[in-house]
Amino acid sequence: MLLAEIISVGTELLFGEIVDSNAAFLARELAARGVTLHRKSVLGDNLGRVTEAIKLALSRADLVILGGGLGPTDDDLTREAIAAVVGETPEVDPELLAWLEGLFTGRGRVMPEINRKQAWLIPSAEALPNAVGTAPGWLVRTNGKIIVALPGPPREMQRMWRDQVLPRLPLPDQALHAVTVHTQGVGEGNVAELLGDLTRQANPSVATYARRTGVDVRVAASAPTLEEAQALAAPVLETVRAGLARWTWGEDDDTLAGAVTRALNGRTLSVIEAGSGGALCLSLADEPGFLDAAITEDHARLITLGLTPVTLSTHGVVSEDGARELAAGAREHLGADVGLAVVTATRGEHTGHTYVAISADGVEKVTALNWPGDAGQVRERAATAALGLAFR
Ligand code: ATP
Ligand code: MG
Repeated sequence: MLLAEIISVGTELLFGEIVDSNAAFLARELAARGVTLHRKSVLGDNLGRVTEAIKLALSRADLVILGGGLGPTDDDLTREAIAAVVGETPEVDPELLAWLEGLFTGRGRVMPEINRKQAWLIPSAEALPNAVGTAPGWLVRTNGKIIVALPGPPREMQRMWRDQVLPRLPLPDQALHAVTVHTQGVGEGNVAELLGDLTRQANPSVATYARRTGVDVRVAASAPTLEEAQALAAPVLETVRAGLARWTWGEDDDTLAGAVTRALNGRTLSVIEAGSGGALCLSLADEPGFLDAAITEDHARLITLGLTPVTLSTHGVVSEDGARELAAGAREHLGADVGLAVVTATRGEHTGHTYVAISADGVEKVTALNWPGDAGQVRERAATAALGLAFR
């Protein structure tokens, strides 16, 4: 088993000025390749602490991946820290220096003296070419372990990881097969109950995630070959699919709006939004059946779209009847086979009160929701709930 640790270096990461997306990327990459990740840590640009962290990580893991701190300035000290850990002295590598100077002269510039340290190498390090930046990475082999140093900018880091690091790693012969089932309309606790003991096993593993679009369930299995991993996952996946079928709108890269398009099955859809500010339209924008929309909170306009004055005066726009009448109105006045309406309050004491309704041949459904939140959250949830009505 190959054990890994990730160390992200940068004071701006430590203080939360930027988010450590590099470590998230690397963690997913490692998991997909059967490498066990035990720790991720974030450190500021401090030579002593980075050195100490590398030493500690080497005592626990086979592979230590460092991100950031490969720039030319004084606060870029990843190379210094690695050199200190392995007890070697960095020296300018003539080949790297020529390459680096070439980058500058190619752009009609002279390389500043300060950049020379990007051409440093230690005897145990192999330079990893940077196809999209000036900072070469390092791959260091020490006492049977590997230290990898990657540049901070995500584009450079990802490219170097794929093209330079992966081919050099002694990766385990493990393939991962993972399928994510997307649901809506059922809470994470209920999903966990339905899944029962399944969530407590390790391979295949079954995990639930609450997302804005509903609860996701990920089934993952690893085995020496992809075929074996698929076979291992298959029975569990079938159980999950069967148990959640009522609420499932898709898998993996499917989108909720795409699920609505599948459910429309060639029919057209029009939408009326009162209060959700176009959030529903935005999610449907790329869908082929999406015909027309009205986004308005104006009472007179809503009445021309099917809201009855009686409903308006007795229950208001944000009401069950309001949603139902506007869903029917979307069909009738905006000329589609299926009408979808959202009425929601994003201001005042009723903020979060939402009704979504659908109207189609022989189908009329209304759902009420009431979640607190800021206006943006309310709009997004309202739109998601409307899509949730339409995918079934
Ligand atoms: P450079 O040559 O650009 O100085 P570097 O290897 O020294 O590269 P850093 O100085 O640590 O890298 O970071 C450069 C930039 O890369 C940061 O300002 C930030 O925008 C981005 N970056 C660094 N680390 C991360 C990270 N862990 N996640 C996301 N972005 C990062
Ligand atoms: Mg830097």
